[in-house]
Amino acid sequence: MTLTSHDALASTLRATFRTGKTRDLSWRRAQLRALLDLFETHADAIAQAIHADMGRPALEGWALEVGVVQVEIRHALKQLDAWARPRKVASPLVNLPSRSYVQVQPKGACLIIGPWNYPVQLLLLPAMAAIAAGNTVALKPSELAPASSALVADLVPKYLDSDAVQVVTGGVETSQALLAQRWDHIFFTGGTAVGRIVMQAAAQHLTPVTLELGGKSPTLVAADADLEVAARRICWGKFVNAGQTCLAPDYVLVDAAVHDALLDALVQCVARFYGDDPAQSPDFGRIINERHHARVVGLLDGGGTPVCGGQWSAEERYIAPTVLRDVPEEAQVLQEEIFGPLLPVLPVADMDAAIDYVNARPHPLALYLFTRDAALRDRVLGSTQSGGACVNDTVSHAGVPDLPFGGVGDSGMGAYHGQVGFDEFSHLRGVVVRTPRLDVPLRYPPYEGKLTWVKRVLR
Ligand code: NAD
Repeated sequence: MTLTSHDALASTLRATFRTGKTRDLSWRRAQLRALLDLFETHADAIAQAIHADMGRPALEGWALEVGVVQVEIRHALKQLDAWARPRKVASPLVNLPSRSYVQVQPKGACLIIGPWNYPVQLLLLPAMAAIAAGNTVALKPSELAPASSALVADLVPKYLDSDAVQVVTGGVETSQALLAQRWDHIFFTGGTAVGRIVMQAAAQHLTPVTLELGGKSPTLVAADADLEVAARRICWGKFVNAGQTCLAPDYVLVDAAVHDALLDALVQCVARFYGDDPAQSPDFGRIINERHHARVVGLLDGGGTPVCGGQWSAEERYIAPTVLRDVPEEAQVLQEEIFGPLLPVLPVADMDAAIDYVNARPHPLALYLFTRDAALRDRVLGSTQSGGACVNDTVSHAGVPDLPFGGVGDSGMGAYHGQVGFDEFSHLRGVVVRTPRLDVPLRYPPYEGKLTWVKRVLR
């Protein structure tokens, strides 16, 4: 599509929506099956495209772009009828006799704008939810992952109904041209700064938005934690995709009593995962482009002492998995979302100090806690806010289809995955159906003598 031909894309997709074809459950089911077929047939090509874009190992490409989406599509196929059917609710006495229910309606023409870091999953998983809910949809992949974007643009029209699903490739200008149109829902995944631009554009048309943003997700390690397990799970969540994961543990707050022991465990874990020279490891990815490489390397400056890593190569867009200690409070690495393979580890007096640290900052996308103490777990979960959370793990909550996935405050609004995603792209219309036969005149004027009865009925 050229810029001129997608000028009126929202209207074109809304015209398709108005034909009613996308509301039909058999159409939705066929589209979901076709999407599953796309993933099953082209899993290797998807992993290769992502490798071309950011050097991601095949296993990470497969698991996090193909596997995760397949699980969600199969789940949606199983649950579709239940999600789409009217949801009965009780009727109050004053309305009897009547039926009350929630009619689950698709919103219409939706726009989905994706980021580069999980370029296939983060575009096609929301697309799946939008289609399951019966919408038409325009997809704008990130220009910063060109191989993956080109693959999506090539494959989607071969599998999905082009009257209802369109891919528009292009950069910021394209994104802005799309945002200028009137949509019935906008779903954006990306940085907080662009999230604000998206919300402003949506406000022009009072279009509802889902904003899946980023932030600095803290990881709390208590003195009683199993440090070996904590190190492994933190290292995996941090260094998968070379740290370019919205849910990555951004920094660690560790009880000072086990600070050094945790650092040792992290260093050993990095060596076990990636060998003595991670630059040679086939299991460690690269940074997406020069700009981001320079940004992350810049964070090393004044960002504490590397206990492992710290090496980098601009030519290869490589930055070693790096664990940082003695990080000054004002260091830039503690101010902005790192989005790269650097892990600052900060000692705290106890977990209450960690809670205070977290609560003094914007709400993160995720919060991770390592402890065996159930009371501490409840205290941390009860006194902090974040989009999602894991106890004794990182990132894995995103793989549970029935858990809402989304941010809160600065890390975003709205959520998806499973039924929550289906509902995000649906309008929940409240409906009352009454019979014309019985009509108690209590609510109609003249009101004389009726107040006592009204008070009784509405109690
Ligand atoms: P980004 O905000 O730079 O870009 C995302 C999309 O917005 C791209 O498609 C891009 O073309 C478009 N865009 C960029 N500038 C724009 C502008 N001025 N006007 C309109 N559209 C514009 O984000 P990114 O660099 O691709 O991704 C990294 C960020 O995304 C990180 O902050 C990360 O935490 C966040 N993220 C969040 C999630 C989540 O699920 N919450 C997932 C992945 C990434």
